[in-house]
Amino acid sequence: MVTRRGDDPRLLPSETALRVIMRRLREIMSDDDDGQGRLDRIVRQIAGVMVAEVCSIYLKRQDGSLELFATEGLNPNAVHATRMKRGEGLVGRCAELGTIVNEPEASSHPAFSYRPETGEEVYHSLLAVPITRSGEVLGVLVIQNLTPREYSDEDVEVLQATALVIAENLVSGAVAGTGAAIEVSRSQPMIIEGEPISDGIALGHLVLHEPRIVVTQLLADNPAAELDRLDRALNTLQSNIDEMFEHEHMSAAGEHRDVLEAYRMFAHDKGWHRRLREAVEGGLTAEAAVERVQNTMRTRMLRQHDAYWRERQRDLDDLSDRLLRVLAGRLTSSANGSDLPPDAILVARTMGPAELLDYDRNKLRGLIVEDGSSQSHVAVVAKALGIAAIGQASGIVECVNAGDAVIVDAVAGEVHLRPTSEVISAYSDKVRFRARRQKRYLALRDRPAITKDGVRISLHINAGLIVDMPHLEESGADGVGLYRTELQFMLSDAFPRLDKQTQLYRTVMAEAGDRPVVFRTLDIGGDKVLPYLRQPKEENPSMGWRAIRMAIDRPELFRLQLRAMLKAAGGRELRVMIPMVSASYEMGAIRALIEREKEFLAKHGHALPQEVLVGAMLEVPALLFELDAFLQRVDFVSVGSNDLMQFLFAADRTNARVASRFDVLSPAPLRALRTLMKAAKRYRVPVTVCGEMAGRPLEAMTLLGLGLRTLSMAPASIGPIKAMILSVNAEAVRELVEDLLKEGAKEVRQALEAFAENNGVEIDS
Ligand code: PEP
Ligand code: MG
Repeated sequence: MVTRRGDDPRLLPSETALRVIMRRLREIMSDDDDGQGRLDRIVRQIAGVMVAEVCSIYLKRQDGSLELFATEGLNPNAVHATRMKRGEGLVGRCAELGTIVNEPEASSHPAFSYRPETGEEVYHSLLAVPITRSGEVLGVLVIQNLTPREYSDEDVEVLQATALVIAENLVSGAVAGTGAAIEVSRSQPMIIEGEPISDGIALGHLVLHEPRIVVTQLLADNPAAELDRLDRALNTLQSNIDEMFEHEHMSAAGEHRDVLEAYRMFAHDKGWHRRLREAVEGGLTAEAAVERVQNTMRTRMLRQHDAYWRERQRDLDDLSDRLLRVLAGRLTSSANGSDLPPDAILVARTMGPAELLDYDRNKLRGLIVEDGSSQSHVAVVAKALGIAAIGQASGIVECVNAGDAVIVDAVAGEVHLRPTSEVISAYSDKVRFRARRQKRYLALRDRPAITKDGVRISLHINAGLIVDMPHLEESGADGVGLYRTELQFMLSDAFPRLDKQTQLYRTVMAEAGDRPVVFRTLDIGGDKVLPYLRQPKEENPSMGWRAIRMAIDRPELFRLQLRAMLKAAGGRELRVMIPMVSASYEMGAIRALIEREKEFLAKHGHALPQEVLVGAMLEVPALLFELDAFLQRVDFVSVGSNDLMQFLFAADRTNARVASRFDVLSPAPLRALRTLMKAAKRYRVPVTVCGEMAGRPLEAMTLLGLGLRTLSMAPASIGPIKAMILSVNAEAVRELVEDLLKEGAKEVRQALEAFAENNGVEIDS
């Protein structure tokens, strides 16, 4: 067919190009041609409308390889002959990662895989989009051009919309049928590893999070009526989200509620509504519009590599799925209906926080998602609901059937699918044991932590969210030894304003009652990023412009936070702790800023705290070599052993390959702590440890031996640490540790273990 100039999509808005393709696809689908014939016509049409020299369709075979099924422009003999291994080449990469590849110079890309039989070496630019359905990649749609060029966002949109139609028709068997199936063994027991994102162990039966609604009709017969449908669905969606705020677990203030607020804002976003309307006005059904806009926005978000955008993308996916369910009249289907088993364990590729709240909490035991990290929004909600959850369980959806027995071990980070009876009984024991142990620790709750020889140890919790605060009461801890304020900043969409910050600190102190709280000022940098704060790209962010370094260079943010803390603590004691101090002079600068803020507030008639204690974290080894100057400038010190060890051993704490090869229970770090303790005694500065080591019984026992009397840890560690303290003799450990740190001592950990064993010290982690 001759392309009229008016049909040339380079000269017309993409909407028109899309419509032309849609119309032609509809014609192709309604003709009674065989599958191969249809594919051949599709690639010809796309190449014509998109003015591409090549258009090809690759489909996934059972073994995960991609086979060239149809092409316009490449050598026809390559069809059904060219196969790419899983992940091979740019096309394989597109399928494997489910991402768009847009390369002006494809052949010079490192992932390019040269296939002489196709004759593609003459083509410079390549645009590949995955053909996906219900999140599953079925194949790849590719266009190529002779001239090097970067395809525009509009080109990407048109190709994506086309891929959508192909996917729907492939699945309904109208096109090729046989080739695209994924082979999985879904009957054997298996273990899938992931990352614990909400602590706990759960046994139950698997429920597949309602698969995405499949969009079958793409073009609207009556656009005006369709627009009306869309508007009504958007209204229902919004009121449904508003109702979630009434949910029993969500009505209290806290970060989980903030997460939902951000989600609600997204649902009301005018830009999203406008895009949806425009897509419907362009001739799509409301459902197709939802998919189209989701794909376009996702493409843009995927270009951003930070955690914030990944989280926003999840919110968008969640909202789009929800809107599709509203349109299909299936919003409240299985989620809270009676067909949910009483021990449901949800499995999903991805899940938004609001979707999790759709399920009946009384029947929900666990959650497994293919993506998701412990900082993701769904993790925050899972923790607030108290269900065991695992993220990063890649590929799990492909391996399960609804109703399968499953065990979520969100302690070890393992999912046991279809476990054998031995595994089930071992885990049942484990669950019972944990429950018994919890009960026993609960019984210790009101007992003070006093060693066998009468030394009182003060135990504090580390916190960072309002939802952590009830743990103070539950664990019977003496206070909050570390409140990581950056979490509020990390969960917000924008820098939290003064009143928001003040309100949070006030709530934290109110929840703590008489017990002290140590607020650590913002520790941003390293793996902690604020999406809305422009930071220079750094090669080594954990050793870069972070925490106190930012506070000194950009005091506005820091002063605002201090002002919020000072205001919130009006009339009571305030403990402020500064992270990542590297030199004693920094504390001088910080103290001057605090004094300035105090003066400012006093001048404006605000009540000041009764007392302001300013402490520092000891995380940078350099401080150990100027302890005299440092200790004179601080009211207390807390050892951040996580960072201290990373810098002492030069071993990145986030890199699993190196993080665990150095032992904190070895002479170097223990001598470092001993040096600190001796100097702190001279200057009468109290020292605490708040890094992970304080929450491990053997390590905590060693810290007692070094003279520490205050420890701060995750709330779940309070019980085991108290049990250790109640069973140990502090003087005996002191002698042992002193002995072990003499010149020539080796095998420190083994000696400590042997001591615990021989002296009946409870070491239970
Ligand atoms: C530490 O470094 O030990 C610490 C407690 O701080 P964070 O883990 O938040 O860096
Ligand atoms: Mg730290």
